[in-house]
Amino acid sequence: MLRTDAPPASSLAEQLPEEWEQTIHEWGEPRYRALQIFRWIHQRGVFDPGLMSDLPKRLRERLAQEGLAEPARIAETHASADGTQKLLVELADQKRVETVLIPRGSVASEDIFAVPGDDDGVVGSSHTGEVTQCVSSQVGCAMGCAFCASGIAGLKRNMSAAEIVSQVLLGRTALGDSGRLAGLVFMGMGEPLHNYAAVTRAIRLLSHPEGLGMSLRRMTVSTSGLVPEIDRLARDFQGQVQLAVSVHASDTATRSRLMPVNKKYPLPELIAAVRRYPVPRRRRLTIEYTLVRDINDSQEAARELARLLDGLRAKVNLIPMNPVAGTGLQAPDDDVVERFQRVLRDAGLDTFLRKRKGDDIAAACGQLALHGESRKVKSEFV
Ligand code: SAH
Ligand code: SF4
Repeated sequence: MLRTDAPPASSLAEQLPEEWEQTIHEWGEPRYRALQIFRWIHQRGVFDPGLMSDLPKRLRERLAQEGLAEPARIAETHASADGTQKLLVELADQKRVETVLIPRGSVASEDIFAVPGDDDGVVGSSHTGEVTQCVSSQVGCAMGCAFCASGIAGLKRNMSAAEIVSQVLLGRTALGDSGRLAGLVFMGMGEPLHNYAAVTRAIRLLSHPEGLGMSLRRMTVSTSGLVPEIDRLARDFQGQVQLAVSVHASDTATRSRLMPVNKKYPLPELIAAVRRYPVPRRRRLTIEYTLVRDINDSQEAARELARLLDGLRAKVNLIPMNPVAGTGLQAPDDDVVERFQRVLRDAGLDTFLRKRKGDDIAAACGQLALHGESRKVKSEFV
């Protein structure tokens, strides 16, 4: 079903079962070891060969020699009063990213994350609350959006597929019996489509039936609008992966002001790509719109946005901007937000107001920053 011309794995930790079979064959080991190792990693979250107790010592040593090791560890855990948990994940080179566990079933979260009615692909115990995990895809971000802490920090490096997967597995461990992982959103630090190869490999690993087995429909990739990669994602997964698009403006000049990426892929081109995305039946896209006071929050902007999205199978998530120091930007007042929402609803668009979650622990959208890192590196986008 999925295209298989993906780039090769960059380390053992991110090999798919068929790649493990090849490795195992080259090492002269019996074929069934391949699935054993894959399951240790992707079902049990164990990357350390020393802990793979049903493998012979010889094979464990070989795996360690070849560099198989834990890609990440939890450095800190912060719990918010609203049940949101933020994990600071430390990678092998001591760089840190964040991942956030967001309980569903409360306030607006149902509307934020598209969830199909059935129960397939839910990971973990079934009697407790569902949790959506917000994951990072890069250390920092090159896109430089004016309202976003990750953008202010600049891009340090891409995350590998193994690091992305490990982040998810660490999240599941942190949840324990207190919840089950029902969905993933690539809405943490970084622009997932700017790290296309690693993110799509991570998606393949996480959805593999011999691993976590999370269904593609439960994974949402949020993008600031990299047009060629949106098309590529459409081709590679036939629209099965949920797409969320950060639009944030209804005219291209305002969008360029907020999002430098718009100079490369202007709004009309982006909307055309969004219209091409093959959304499966009974599903829809998500349009994200962060409301910034006096910049994109007028009723005229709302009317223009409604025109832009006319006929698109999409829902709109409005996010009043979360405070980020140093941006000089703010959220509009509540009545302005409500009026904006009303204009969209009156135009027939399903529009939801995203409630802040984890705001008290700086885990809300756009607040995920680098820790102990200095500022900006230059990129093609800024
Ligand atoms: N890079 C991707 C995904 C991560 S950001 C993207 O931009 O889509 C996830 C969402 O949070 C995006 O819609 C982003 O625009 C939004 N966001 C960023 N900073 C924000 C802030 N300060 N307040 C509210 N939303 C913000
Ligand atoms: Fe990067 Fe998304 Fe933040 Fe823009 S909003 S800087 S694309 S993480």
